[in-house]
Amino acid sequence: MQMKLAPLVLLGAAVIAMIGAPLRAQNAASAWSANITDVRRVARLIPGRRPLRINVVKFAESRRTKNFSIKGAAPIPSVQARTAFQVMYPDSTMMIDAGMDQQVHNFFGRGVVEPYDADAGKQVEGALTAARLIVVTHEHGDHVGGVIHTPLAGELAAKTILTRTQVQTLMTAPQMPDIKLTPELASRFIVVDYDQYMPVAPGVAFIKAAGHTPGSQMVYVALESGREYLFIGDSAWHMDGVRQVIGKDAPWITEDQNSVMDQLRWLNGLSRTDPNLLIVASHDDEQRMELEARGVLGRRFE
Ligand SMILES: [Zn+2]
Ligand SMILES: [Zn+2]
Repeated sequence: MQMKLAPLVLLGAAVIAMIGAPLRAQNAASAWSANITDVRRVARLIPGRRPLRINVVKFAESRRTKNFSIKGAAPIPSVQARTAFQVMYPDSTMMIDAGMDQQVHNFFGRGVVEPYDADAGKQVEGALTAARLIVVTHEHGDHVGGVIHTPLAGELAAKTILTRTQVQTLMTAPQMPDIKLTPELASRFIVVDYDQYMPVAPGVAFIKAAGHTPGSQMVYVALESGREYLFIGDSAWHMDGVRQVIGKDAPWITEDQNSVMDQLRWLNGLSRTDPNLLIVASHDDEQRMELEARGVLGRRFE
């Protein structure tokens, strides 16, 4: 009996080892994933006409050498544009990111005064006031400050979607004191939670993308014309991060680097399989100028 059982037990252990090893390896290797076919399907779920065009405004800049955006790059001067986007529907608008006022901007300079375009800041404020809906890529001050550190916060919160994770960070560990959410203000936002993708508006879907921050997400937009955009927030600060699949080297932020690297790999793959899908990084000033020149991002808010 024992002689017959022993090989079976050994075989069983070997099978468990074979099943267990790839599963463990897969979990370790894949912190984050997304599927563009699923994203497109989710973006089609909400009925209605899709957007016609998208505008960008740069309202401030930070000057940091390239090596902070791209680990290992030469420390050459590099401009980080601070931007917000206006999605134009036939009858209304949606804002992607909310900008920030000069006081929040000053925090980022850490003692150094960096350019802030007050006129552009006013354009962002006007576009937020006029928008039907406001969404944010993540809970950092340069993206969410415009709906928190403003006298209009109560009014804007009522049409702004934040995720549960974004709200938690803003209440318990905000990037700067100016954007700390009080329980009272937090209760005025539209707070959502979702697993991987969420339909937001006609042609628009969120993709959960924790990494740069716990509450980071990407915003996919398909226009009526069929042109597609993927607003990746700060998954990469410069598109070289996507092109070269290299992360940041910025000691003042704490990222989930495994997830960020998975995102960069996914975006890099997309840029080759779906070259017509425009991957837009919030802070890449060279890309912003190029997309404006190509006419695929309008230069002003309407
Ligand atoms: Zn950020
Ligand atoms: Zn940012």
